[in-house]
Amino acid sequence: MLLLVFAVLSASAVAHAAGPSQVASADRATWPDPIDSPTAFDRASRAEILAFAHELALSESLDDTDLTARLRLKQFGLASRASVDKLRARYWQRLAANYRLASRSCREREAFCEPAADAEALRKRALALQTAPQPAYAAWRADAARFHRIYLDELLRLAALFPRVSSEIDTYGDGELDGSELPDRRFLLTFDDGPSAAGGSTDKLLATLREHKLDATFFVLGLSLQRQADAGAAGRTAQRYAGMCLASHGWEHQSHSRWPQWQDSVTRSSALIKAQAGSAYVPLFRPPYGQRRADSGEFFRQQGLRVALWSIDSQDWNAKMTPADIQGRLLSLMLLWRHGTILFHDIHDKARIALPWLLRQTRGAGLEWIGCQEYRGRG
Ligand SMILES: [Zn+2]
Repeated sequence: MLLLVFAVLSASAVAHAAGPSQVASADRATWPDPIDSPTAFDRASRAEILAFAHELALSESLDDTDLTARLRLKQFGLASRASVDKLRARYWQRLAANYRLASRSCREREAFCEPAADAEALRKRALALQTAPQPAYAAWRADAARFHRIYLDELLRLAALFPRVSSEIDTYGDGELDGSELPDRRFLLTFDDGPSAAGGSTDKLLATLREHKLDATFFVLGLSLQRQADAGAAGRTAQRYAGMCLASHGWEHQSHSRWPQWQDSVTRSSALIKAQAGSAYVPLFRPPYGQRRADSGEFFRQQGLRVALWSIDSQDWNAKMTPADIQGRLLSLMLLWRHGTILFHDIHDKARIALPWLLRQTRGAGLEWIGCQEYRGRG
């Protein structure tokens, strides 16, 4: 029994090796304005960019010892330092670009409209945001400080681990997609780990998506699809997912950086999905936990597949996160990054609850949910 407990514990430690101790969720009720127009979206976006940039700038004053302790890491060597530095440099460029886009709609005396032409100017603006610029934003400022500090730590932790534990935090070259290549205000919905049994969370989610006239890419497991085919559901996959896109999440939910059979897992699952899904199949592969080998690029090229990661993690798989936590987190991250690929899991019910709320909150904000068939041809 004890052995079993150890086995389970170590398996989950490997599975969530990149998981942080705390997960960020934002209280959107603290933001005083509705996000019902492109201008309102931009104002809220500038605020989130400044709040995140504030935490990013503050974190740069930490030395390696402080950062190791804050991120609760066991080790932080030269490779971790280089990875964290690379991430920060990339984020400053992206934040500066996002701030410029969000500032186009600025009118005189509007909140969060001080100009910042480049990353250095943005750093100064962000550091100056100690308190809210107007009393109406005081509650938001306090909540955003907490949210972005925890969120930044999630990202820095992934970056520090990346040299040993790959994840979505970085790509191995241009062959891999992560959603950061999407245009401003465009988002892609993705759902992993399915399909669940007939009549379960996958089918309920499919109904919700159709009700809202949305499509999405489902990264399914070959083994789960095979089991449903064995149970008599063969031939119904294309019908079940009509209007959606299907791609591979591997044969089994294992790290594809450590599993000796990872190549077989990729080819076998892709072939099965293609055979069952027909034209709904898209030649993408999403590695479980985002873990793939640094030298796997050539294999995927030969297979005609692209690795498709994500840029906005809903954390819906996390037992600590309620649908309300996920909603607040996602809206703040959509405002911060302004575009990207959102990761959900259709084996949980939380996305089905969170998604209609997100759509209501951003109605009129000028956002577009990009079609999954359009995404396959990008990059
Ligand atoms: Zn997964």
